[in-house]
Amino acid sequence: MSEAGGSGGANVSHPEDSGGADELEAEWVRGQARGVLAPGLYLVATPIGNLEDMTLRGLRVLREVDRVACEDTRQTAKLLHHYGIRTPTVSYHRHNEAGRAAELVLELVGGARIAVVSDAGTPGIADPGGEIVRAAVAAGVAVYPVPGANAVVSALIASGLEMGDGFAFHGFLPAKAGARRSVLEGLLRAMREAGGSGKGGSGEGGRGAAPVQVFYETPHRMLEALGDVEAVFGAAHPVVVARELTKLHEEFLRGTVGEVRAELTGRESVRGEMVLLLGGAVDAVAGESVTVAAAVRALVAGGVEEKEALKRVARERGMGKSEAYREWQRGRGR
Ligand code: SAM
Repeated sequence: MSEAGGSGGANVSHPEDSGGADELEAEWVRGQARGVLAPGLYLVATPIGNLEDMTLRGLRVLREVDRVACEDTRQTAKLLHHYGIRTPTVSYHRHNEAGRAAELVLELVGGARIAVVSDAGTPGIADPGGEIVRAAVAAGVAVYPVPGANAVVSALIASGLEMGDGFAFHGFLPAKAGARRSVLEGLLRAMREAGGSGKGGSGEGGRGAAPVQVFYETPHRMLEALGDVEAVFGAAHPVVVARELTKLHEEFLRGTVGEVRAELTGRESVRGEMVLLLGGAVDAVAGESVTVAAAVRALVAGGVEEKEALKRVARERGMGKSEAYREWQRGRGR
């Protein structure tokens, strides 16, 4: 077990333990005056739209570290400038992640304090950050999360979807249609197994809903993605598209996938940053629009033998063997 860790000199007592907001503020001011930040790696969340979502601790850390490793130094310069922070920056992005992580860890081992930020939100969540954390952990360097804005959690908590057993975050859906369909088909299968079997999907509360499924999606692919969700899960499946979170034009499109798709299709253009959430409950009717052949293909792609896959699909759909066989033959070429 690794021992590296701790509060990174940014330890603030809990209001309940210490007499409330005044004490919290006093502790924060004392921390400011001390100006001591423990050596280590700080993963600092930055706003996803609204600059007020930058936390007090995040600002202090950005001010006090030796340098800030940024996904895009120009983007972070705007944030630092806004808050009058002059800490030197260094680039740390997808294309130099491994090399830069090794360099920075050498500095960390020597006692440096380094913050990592992405362009927006929480580093390491569909953003650079993971590589340097693993390297730091391997080198025995302390790693401190400095939490704050994140699009997944913001979308989820305001979505209104029944969370049942929680949520599953998948990052971005594949850009290519075939791969996207396969991912969605696999997901539907897993959700059915979890929710339908009563083994793992019913949760302690016995609510039976599989976790809400959360994806990041680009605006130019959102309609295609919704089309695939509709084809795989059926037009009645509940979804939420959370747009422009924390920004001026923040919007939640809630409804069935058919309704949300129709709403977005009717717009002149689909713009802004978006999170796509799928309700976790799949009823027996969901996914009927997936052909038997497609369902068999998805199982085979997951390593199930073809004959067994056909048997399972027939069983799941309550079809007789010969009916399922005929359906399968019909859909094979498609
Ligand atoms: N690390 C970030 C986080 O913690 O949320 C996510 C970075 S990822 C490269 C960018 C994607 O996050 C966008 O394409 C969008 O799907 C989602 N996203 C980021 N900001 C958002 C916002 N304000 N509203 C809705 N979605 C957002």
